[in-house]
Amino acid sequence: MYIILLGAPGAGKGTQAAYVAQKLKVAHIATGDLFRQAIERGTELGRQAKYYMERGILSPDELTIQMVLERLSAPDSKSGVVFDGFPRNLKQAEALDGALAQQAKAIDRVVYIKVSEEELLRRLSGRLICRNCQMPYHATDSPPQVWGKCDKCGGELYQRPDDNVETVKKRLDVYFAETAPLISYYAKSEKLIEIDGEGSVAKVGEKVITALKKEVINK
Ligand code: ADP
Ligand code: ZN
Repeated sequence: MYIILLGAPGAGKGTQAAYVAQKLKVAHIATGDLFRQAIERGTELGRQAKYYMERGILSPDELTIQMVLERLSAPDSKSGVVFDGFPRNLKQAEALDGALAQQAKAIDRVVYIKVSEEELLRRLSGRLICRNCQMPYHATDSPPQVWGKCDKCGGELYQRPDDNVETVKKRLDVYFAETAPLISYYAKSEKLIEIDGEGSVAKVGEKVITALKKEVINK
């Protein structure tokens, strides 16, 4: 199963993608996480990605697409993937369709998680993520059991430098201009499932899984 989670920054893609990937036993490919890992490791890819991330704009397509295709060739991606943060524009969507077609595969479903702009801003300003495993938390909505520590791996939680008001606004602008058009791209191929993303993490997660199961059974 190849699934894309689509939605604005703060819509809950990362949280839900981790949940869905675990439930369906498929790989979770999150481009933002891959870039952040590269930055932490101080690689050349990280050095380049940092420039764009700090400004809230997209990394160049060649850089992003190459990174995803490499990740996609790993053995754990063979039985399926949940894509999170990719594709983010039409060119990336077409590159992904092309790469999957070469392996006689295709995207099965695109889950669009819809959240109001007001709620997005509230969520991003309270977001904390694990430095080690990238698991997202929210200071008041979904706090960790021990303050400052990841429930899953004990890693240190921190606020992403691009979660400041200025950069968040820029990221939302970029989302509406470049990524939101993908909603109609996938609606045309009848792969789109729209989910109301406002509600608890567990509730939204159930909605996503229920919708995917229904679709798969009907296939
Ligand atoms: P969010 O969805 O909350 O904005 P991500 O962690 O997915 O955050 O992405 C953070 C940053 O990483 C983006 O602002 C962008 O600079 C870069 N990035 C992530 N995914 C992509 C992508 N598919 N194409 C280009 N740049 C990306
Ligand atoms: Zn962790």
